[in-house]
Amino acid sequence: MTRDQKRRGEFEIIKRFFAPLSQKEAGAFGLTDDAAALTPKAGHDVVVTTDAIVAGVHFLPGDPPDTIARKALRVNLSDLAAKGATPRAYLLTAAFPHDIGDDWLKSFVAALKADQARYGITLVGGDTVATPGPLTLNVVALGEIARGRTVTRAGAKIGDDVWVTGTIGDAGLGLRLSKGDDLGLNERQRDALIRRYRVPDPRVALGQGLPTLATACLDVSDGLIADVGHIADVSKVQIRINATDVPLSHVSRAAMESGRTSLTEILTAGDDYELAFTAPPAHRQHLIELAAKAKTKIARVGEVARGKGVVARDESGRPLEISAAGYRHF
Ligand code: ADP
Ligand code: MG
Repeated sequence: MTRDQKRRGEFEIIKRFFAPLSQKEAGAFGLTDDAAALTPKAGHDVVVTTDAIVAGVHFLPGDPPDTIARKALRVNLSDLAAKGATPRAYLLTAAFPHDIGDDWLKSFVAALKADQARYGITLVGGDTVATPGPLTLNVVALGEIARGRTVTRAGAKIGDDVWVTGTIGDAGLGLRLSKGDDLGLNERQRDALIRRYRVPDPRVALGQGLPTLATACLDVSDGLIADVGHIADVSKVQIRINATDVPLSHVSRAAMESGRTSLTEILTAGDDYELAFTAPPAHRQHLIELAAKAKTKIARVGEVARGKGVVARDESGRPLEISAAGYRHF
């Protein structure tokens, strides 16, 4: 047991580090009660989601505390964004190793505080436990959306366009770099990709404009092909992707041109936390305006057709052979 540990215990951690993050929601009761009580905005539904991140699985054990904090929160904000919701509050269950230090916690909490301001969200509860295993963080995020307007995976219609935000594949390459792979890049390029793996950029502003424009949406966490496959399954349609239209960053393109990665790897790499959505062609102009307002790039990468599953074609129209699409835990 460390000196920090002897001094404080979990109530001290809650009071000193987490309670200050709860001030903007009176119903969090300063994290001194059994539960929080929130009143949803009139005429709104509450959208609820949860995602856990585990050291060695979703981040590397030596990653800095501020990037770990941001990832824990942001992967959940990405789910809210995909449903068109506005972030409101979150709960955090933290299983910390016994020797977690004050400096680590300070940096962790400072990052949460910064992201709370950035996304307009407040900590309203959680649980704090010690674990003999790897650091594990679970966030439950609550968002609000006009009643009945949640964007699901089920609404894609034949003839819709398929769109994605941002660039695809960077985070997967960032993970390879973190593990020591050589992608033939300079330090600045490597840092950019590693950053994309460690700290996702949830498309919250864009997502909030989707309820009136998109027919289906999800966030891309397990790989573009695997994830749009979920829309295809639930909407009972086929999704056709034009692989060469999938937006790549300059750095990923450089890695591809030097032969260190392939289009297939990029289309199946995880952790991007971009949005993939379908929308009728009549909404193209509105979507372009929304993207400008939300300062988020979007690209049209395919269409919805009769049939099932996902077909990705290369520039000559040949279907790409893609096996084992997407990350699976089991
Ligand atoms: P209980 O005994 O009811 O399980 P706890 O002692 O676990 O309550 O927690 C006390 C208060 O601190 C509760 O309001 C709980 O939501 C809050 N809390 C505990 N851990 C965290 C955390 N990691 N983040 C935010 N709030 C927390
Ligand atoms: Mg408890």
